[in-house]
Amino acid sequence: MDTKYIFVTGGVVSSLGKGIISASIGRLLQARGYKVTIQKFDPYINIDPGTLNPYEHGECYVTDDGFETDLDLGHYERFTGIHTTRNNSITTGRIYKTVIDRERHGDYLGKTIQVVPHITDEIKRRMLREDEKDEQLDFVITEVGGTIGDIESAPFMEAIRQLRWQLGRNAVCVHLTYVPYLKAADELKTKPTQHSVKELQGMGIQPDILVLRTERHLDDHLRMKVASFCNVDLECVVQSEDMPSIYEVPVTMQRQGLDAAILRKIGIPVGETPEMKSWHEFLDKQHNAKREVHIGLVGKYDLQDAYKSIRESLNIAGIYNDVKAQIHFVNSEEVTSQNIAEKLEGMAGVVICPGFGTRGIEGKIIAAEYTRTHDIPTFGICLGMQMMVIEFARNVLGYKDANSSEMDEKTPHNVIDIMEEQKNITQMGGTMRLGAYDCELKEGSRVYEAYGKEKLIRERHRHRYEFNNAYTDEYESKGMKCVGVNPAANLVEIVEIPEKRWYIGTQFHPEYSSSVLNPHPLFMSFIKACL
Ligand code: GLN
Repeated sequence: MDTKYIFVTGGVVSSLGKGIISASIGRLLQARGYKVTIQKFDPYINIDPGTLNPYEHGECYVTDDGFETDLDLGHYERFTGIHTTRNNSITTGRIYKTVIDRERHGDYLGKTIQVVPHITDEIKRRMLREDEKDEQLDFVITEVGGTIGDIESAPFMEAIRQLRWQLGRNAVCVHLTYVPYLKAADELKTKPTQHSVKELQGMGIQPDILVLRTERHLDDHLRMKVASFCNVDLECVVQSEDMPSIYEVPVTMQRQGLDAAILRKIGIPVGETPEMKSWHEFLDKQHNAKREVHIGLVGKYDLQDAYKSIRESLNIAGIYNDVKAQIHFVNSEEVTSQNIAEKLEGMAGVVICPGFGTRGIEGKIIAAEYTRTHDIPTFGICLGMQMMVIEFARNVLGYKDANSSEMDEKTPHNVIDIMEEQKNITQMGGTMRLGAYDCELKEGSRVYEAYGKEKLIRERHRHRYEFNNAYTDEYESKGMKCVGVNPAANLVEIVEIPEKRWYIGTQFHPEYSSSVLNPHPLFMSFIKACL
């Protein structure tokens, strides 16, 4: 079968959940036995979101191959279990950089380089995944960031218009819009959707399928109205009502025949509706998980999206343990030794979050001390692990001035230090230790048990600083063990205090590789300990 291309765009407002819809389409097609990938095209100029503050763009997600990407790739991976790569996250900046580099190289000698056709050609090349020709995919789902009508997304729209023409039935456009409910009039309004589709048509793109986001149920009459105003078949107008959990979305989309509509548009026989047994089992577990487990999330970004993958990993692991993870954000900037007991009151476990820079770190250190001395299960991730290590140095090893050289370059006790290969790096973008690296686990450790007695694991990283091996013996003799080490570089990847119930810090980010059907063993083990 030729590869088929599905384009997902959004209109009316942002934050409609295009990423979730794209991921759901991916999941539904996989359930029918197709091989899929999902990619995101973002209209901003940054080469990648790695240099963006989470307040601007939420969490930065990291792929196996070490690329810093948009958080939607996290949804793609959690829903489908596929491993995305650097070719699944493209920005305007990357497109321009490629074209400009080519121009400087002389590849277009004599020609004027223009948005059309040079930029749009490069977008098309990426949308068709020409660099990955041997993937043999059945479906490539391409989500375009931003909202229809944005100036900066125009070249992406032009590329989609051309591709639709070129690919014929092998391309389908799914457009996501919003149907607001006006309380005073007690009415749902379709006008913004009509305008959004008009705008798309003005760019030469006729959507095949409309997904209407709504807070209230849309009746058939309203769907019919949208269908007739927008030149879309009635069966291709699907609604996406607010759900208590994003993991319900694939199932509600399947119930309305979104995947079947896509197949019909392309001209593939629809066949039987797949059962999605394990997905339903997961949802059943979610419905039945009534008991709550309260987890404190100690971090500095008071924003849902900033620790997206950690939150989802906790939720998923909770569900598999038949509990509902209630996550309580604890702003580390507000934490003091006086108020920590109150801040963490009722928490069955605590996660100390990743991060960069000095803001809020003392609060994380206070939290690490409190949970260690009160034996509350604690999971430190990346910077969180580093803070556990610093706390231990200050309060157990007796080095009151212990710190990370990230926070205090001159600290005499740099228990966390810059990695050797990072010392001469001056460029900020894409230069950290990124992506998946091996880690060898110590037999008999809690992490070794958690990973099901696997000796060699592989996890994703994003950091410049690292446990300072000069202190290993001191730590080990005082009870904090280095139980996971990268064999090639001898970097400490995991510390744990075995005499505590669950006190583990990982230099890597396990949250990036947790998915709905494959919950991460460390999150599973952590939640178990919290119960
Ligand atoms: N700032 C720390 C480092 O660079 C931790 C990074 C992180 O938490 N992702 O090592």
